Formats: sequence, structure tokens, C-alpha cells
Amino acid sequence: MAETIKKWLGLDKQSDHVKRFFYHTNMRASIYMSVVVIVLELWMIVRMTRTIIQGQLQSQIWSLTEKYYSNYFLLLSSGLLMLLFAVRALYDSRKFRFAAIAVIVMSLAVCIFEVKMLSEYSPEVKTPSDLQNYIILMLAGISMIVFSVLLLINGVDKKWESLSVMYIFSFECINFGIVISANTFKTGGQVLTFLTMELFVICLLVWRPYVGFLVLTASYLVFYYKISTMIDLQTVGKFVGVVDFSTVKTGLGDGIKINGFTMWLSTLLFCISNYNKTISQAIKEENLEDVNSYLSKISVEDELTGIHNMVYFRTEGDKLLHDPSVDKNSLVFLFFDIVNFKYYNEKYGFHEGNALLKSVAKMIEAGFSEALVSRFSDDHFVVLTAYEGSEAVILELCERIHSFEREVHLELKCGAYRPSNDDNTDLSLACDRARFACNSIKKHYELGYKLYDKQLDARFRQKQYIVNNIDNAIENGYIKVYYQPVVSTKDKSVVGLEALARWIDPTYGLLPPGAFIEVLEEYRQIHKLDSCIIREVCKEYRRSADENLPFAPVSINFSRLDFELCDIVGVLKSCAKEFDTPQEYIDIEITESALTDRQDFLKSAMKDLRDLGYKVWLDDFGSGYSSLNALKDHHFDLLKIDMKFLSDFSQNDRSRPILGNIVDLTRQLEMRSLTEGVEDKEQFDFLASIGCELVQGYLFSKPVPIDELRERIYKGELRINEAYMK
Ligand code: C2E
Ligand code: MG
Ligand code: MG
Repeated sequence: MAETIKKWLGLDKQSDHVKRFFYHTNMRASIYMSVVVIVLELWMIVRMTRTIIQGQLQSQIWSLTEKYYSNYFLLLSSGLLMLLFAVRALYDSRKFRFAAIAVIVMSLAVCIFEVKMLSEYSPEVKTPSDLQNYIILMLAGISMIVFSVLLLINGVDKKWESLSVMYIFSFECINFGIVISANTFKTGGQVLTFLTMELFVICLLVWRPYVGFLVLTASYLVFYYKISTMIDLQTVGKFVGVVDFSTVKTGLGDGIKINGFTMWLSTLLFCISNYNKTISQAIKEENLEDVNSYLSKISVEDELTGIHNMVYFRTEGDKLLHDPSVDKNSLVFLFFDIVNFKYYNEKYGFHEGNALLKSVAKMIEAGFSEALVSRFSDDHFVVLTAYEGSEAVILELCERIHSFEREVHLELKCGAYRPSNDDNTDLSLACDRARFACNSIKKHYELGYKLYDKQLDARFRQKQYIVNNIDNAIENGYIKVYYQPVVSTKDKSVVGLEALARWIDPTYGLLPPGAFIEVLEEYRQIHKLDSCIIREVCKEYRRSADENLPFAPVSINFSRLDFELCDIVGVLKSCAKEFDTPQEYIDIEITESALTDRQDFLKSAMKDLRDLGYKVWLDDFGSGYSSLNALKDHHFDLLKIDMKFLSDFSQNDRSRPILGNIVDLTRQLEMRSLTEGVEDKEQFDFLASIGCELVQGYLFSKPVPIDELRERIYKGELRINEAYMK
């Protein structure tokens, strides 16, 4: 309630925008008002001067100056001063400020005249009201001289100065209305000047309601007091033609009072409604401005960290690269990545993850305070800075990241690319190269910084070749399926095959999956390769079935992205149908790291596969951080134990109990077990002894083309399980 009343009276706090809006609205209105006043007063001055010159009123020159001239000149100069201030406020223009000299001259003349009148004042000849008037005019004249001087000195807009001039101007207008109308009223005329001035000041300017109320009420009361005390009934009576003065009532008539009150009320109501209309317009504009400034802010600022975003980096970086005065050799692009950030995020939650990103962003920004620093995405930050001295800063940042560590070990990796004046590498390519350099050391614990060099360049070009040629490779049959046998520990017979992709390229020769899987995942093209492998495997099954060749169930590797990028289950279904491949001949391997992102669609796709009768295997168990969670959250038919557990099998005593327990776990969870990377007999015997059902590794065969595998079967080097003999 109190708030509503405060609001209604205009006593509430206004935002800077609203204040600014009111200020400009009033300055605009002041321009119109001052022009009207200037024209009007000039007209009055000319009119009166002409009458004087024509000799009609020469004898009354002093009395006319006292009553009218001084007011005309004062109003003329305050109108001019107001105009100059309003122009300065709105257009930031000082061009016409020397016109203030005219204001000083006129105001000075008025002041001198009023001083003269004051010095000659005698109560017998003049009334206290006259005395009051001299003082008011003199003070107004002095204040105008002061503000004129301020205008001449100050070039820039000062709000308080312009507003003070506006208040003085308004005051003079109202005072003029009161004085002139009181004089007119005394001689029986109407009070139009007063009413006009009230409307002029209150309705053209916007006042807070309580200020409007005070100004209106005060001016009406002063005017009322003036006319009720100075009323000369005889003159009025004469003027209206009353001969018998006894019939003329003393004091103001009810009619005048009622009209005066109605006028006061309606002007006040107009003042309030004008205020409300303007404020709602100001708020609307403020909201719009807020939205606009938010939009322009997020277009250059990273919402989470507050540092610049990729868009800003690209625009500004591009400008720098294309500036002929900039020596490109002196620059370096830096790509930063936080190792284990994903795991940190998973362990402590998004909120903590975001806090870490913010801290790292601020740390990098502080390290490169003079440079262009931005966040591209996730935990990737890119900097464009001077090469000189950058390495020392990078190494220091790589050290400082450890201060944010908790139970999760964190590392900051940085890849750098130096552009040169000779090449015309564009900004995207430069960032890509820095990123490539960064990725190349991700798995090297001891390295924090890597400069893009010739060797990396060769690898980078190969990577680009892969991305640009995957469609071509599939179309031209460069993608081949190699098969690696899966062997039973019971009788060493081949009971399955793993399909592993090879790219046999006319330019690069044989490319292993390590050269292209990650690249295709990064560029979201992996589904093309996996769909091709599914098709090739189904086709091979058909050939073996039709030609009575030995074959065994094949496990196919699916990437997590396959489920996102295409309907991989649909692809499998249609290929199986086309080549009439039974479900028992295809198994699906999903790598453990695919399951770290909690994606519901992956869960439902896995369910679809199982519903269709396919077995789903968990690949590389134990290679990541969330192995056990993967087992808890998803249902698998087989667990493929990562070859990492066998890497130092003979030296590390701990490998055996670990493997033993994992195999036990598979039994408890009713899964089959398969260990990858079996390279020697010792490993095989141990796995057989702990009851690991299946093994796969170089001990039996490397991945080879299917015909080579069959040859080895025919030669008796490998024995296929009877169930799959043809
Ligand atoms: P993976 O699925 O875990 O495959 C096993 C990898 O271990 C294969 O490497 C295989 O050659 C290798 N390997 C097998 N036995 C031994 C051994 O005794 N010692 C050693 N040191 N290595 C052994 P490869 O063929 O280079 O494949 C690497 C990875 O690439 C695969 O790991 C799989 O994650 C991925 N990959 C391969 N083909 C495809 C594919 O068609 N699609 C997808 N999405 N990924 C594939
Ligand atoms: Mg695999
Ligand atoms: Mg594996």
C-alpha cells in the first residue's frame, strides 16, 4: 500500500534509464517552450517599443519598464538560455554557446534596473508586492548570469545545470503569468496569462506528481493571494459598468474561485497522467534496451565464464590477421584443454564443473592480460598472443591448474601454432592446428605444451585427408574389414571374430583404426564407416553361407556417436535382412567410454538391439573411470576385459588377483568373459585357470583379411569350433 502511494506520488526510486528518459523528454519540451517564449517576448518588446517610439507612452517609460519590459527581457533571456542548455543536452553541441553573452547582457541590464528600483523604493509610493517583484527579478537575473557563465565554461552536458535552468525558466514563466495577470485583473481584465503559463509549464514538461502538485498549488495560492489583496473594486466595478459600488461584493466571487479550483485540479490531473504515460514509455524502452544489451553481450561474451566467446575471437582475430601493419610471425595461437575435466564434471557435478571452468578461464585471462582470450566450447580455450614470452606463461599455467585439483588429477594441455607472413592460413585453420598440437600430447603425462611442427603438419594433413575422403574411400572400397579370431579357453577353438576396420589408401597405404577412428568421431562422420562395416560383415556372412566357407559370429564395434548420428539399429536391421544374416552371427561391441555420458537414447538403442535378438558386449572394460558404473546401469551379455590388465602381466603381481576378481564378477552378473590382448602362453594359461571363457590376441592371430584367416584354418594353424564348421 505504502509502495503504491509512493509510486502514485512519484516518490519511488527511479532507475538511471528512467531518469535519463525524463531528462531528455523535458529537454526536448524545453526547446519548443523556449522557442515559443523567445518569439513571444520579441514580439512583445517590438510591439511596446513601437508604441513608445510613436510617442503615445513616452511619459510612462519607467513604469512600463518596471511592469513589462524587465519581465519581457528576463523571460527572453531565460528562454534563450534554456534553448542553449537544451540543445547542449540533446545534441552535445557547443556551437551556439556564445549566444549566452546576449543572455548575460540582457540579464545584467535587468539586474541593474532592479537594483535602481530597489534603491529608490519607498513604502509610500510602492507596495510590498512591488518590492517582492524587484527582488525576484534581480535574483533571477543573477542566476541566469551564473548559468550563462557555466555554459561558456563547460562544454559537456551537466544534468544538474540544465535542470536548474529548466526550473528557473519554469519559475519565471509562472511568475510572469502571476505578475501580468494580477495587473490585468486589477484593471478588470481576465487572468489568461496566468492560466496560459500554468498550462505551458505544467503540461509541456513532465513533473513527478508531488512536484507538480507543489508547483501548481503554490502558484495558484500566490496568485489567489495577490489578486484577492490587490483587488480594486472600484476599477473592476467601473470596468464592468457598475455604477452603484455598494452592490459590488468585496473579495473574489465564487465563480472565480470555482473556476480557479477546477483549473488547478484539471492541470494537476493532466500532470499526473502525463507522468504515468511517460514513465510507462520509459520502462518499455528500458526493457527493450535490456534485451538488446543482453543480446549484444552474449554475442561477444561467453555466458558461463564471462570471457570472450568464439564469435568475438573470430572477428577480432581475423581483423588482426588481415592488418598489414601486424607482423604475423610474432603471433601465436594457443589452444588449451583440461585433461580429466569430463571426469571432474561427472564426479562433482555440473555446478562444480562450471566453477572450475570459470576459475581456469580467469586464470588464463590473467596470464595473457594483453591478448585475445576466449572460450570456444566445453573446456577448450583459445588465445591469440605474442609468441615472445608465451611459453613461460603456458608452463606456469600448466603448473597452476594443480591448485584446483581435488581427488581428480587435472592437467592443462596447450597446443601452439605460429602463423607466418608468407602463408595465408586463415583463422579457423590456425585454431585447428593449435588444437591438433594440443590433442597430440593429451596422452603424454609429462608434456604440457606442444608447438605445431613439421611432423605434426604431416599428421594434420593426413587427418584432413581422412575427413575429406571418407565418402570416397567407402565408395571405392578402400575400407576393408579385418577379422581377429576369438578363441575359447576350453579347447582353443575359434568361436568368434572381431571385425576391425582398415583403410587401404592409394596415397597413404594401410591406415590402422588409430589413424582415422578418432578423426571421424571428432568430425562426426564415424557412422558412415560403421554402417559400411556392418554391410561388409553381412555381405561376407552371405558369401560364406552361399559358398560353404568357414565363418563364425562376428562382433562389430559401434561408436557412441552412431546412435546420435544415424539410426544404426535400423542400418543393422536392413543389412541383416538384405543378406539374410541371422542375429546369432552378429554381436555388438560398445566401448566403455561411450557410456560415460548419461544418455537415455543410448540405453533405449541398446534395448532395441537386445529386443531384436542381438547380443551387446561391453568393450575395453577397465580402461576408463566408470567401468563399474557402466555395469550397474546397463545390461551386457559379455564383458571384454581391456588388454591393459595384461600389459605388464609377468612383472606385476597385482594383475592376477585383479583379473581373477573381474572374471568372478562376470559370473556373478551372469555375463560371459573375454580378455583382449593375449600375447603369450603364460597369459593364456592363467586366464584359462581362472575360468575366463574367451580370449583374443596376437597369440592366436592378428586381425587379418577373411581369406587369409580361412587359409590358416585350412592349414590347421587355427581350428574353428565345430559348431561353425561347414
Ligand atoms: P578394440 O575394439 O578394443 O580392438 C582391439 C584392438 O586391439 C585392435 O586394434 C587389435 O588389433 C588390437 N589387438 C588385438 N590383439 C592384440 C594383442 O595381442 N596385442 C596388442 N598390442 N593389440 C592387440 P585395432 O584394430 O587397431 O583397433 C583399435 C580400435 O579401433 C579398436 O579397439 C576399436 O575401438 C576401434 N575400431 C576398430 N575398428 C572399428 C570399427 O569398425 N568401428 C569403430 N567404431 N571402431 C573400430
Ligand atoms: Mg572391440
Ligand atoms: Mg577392445
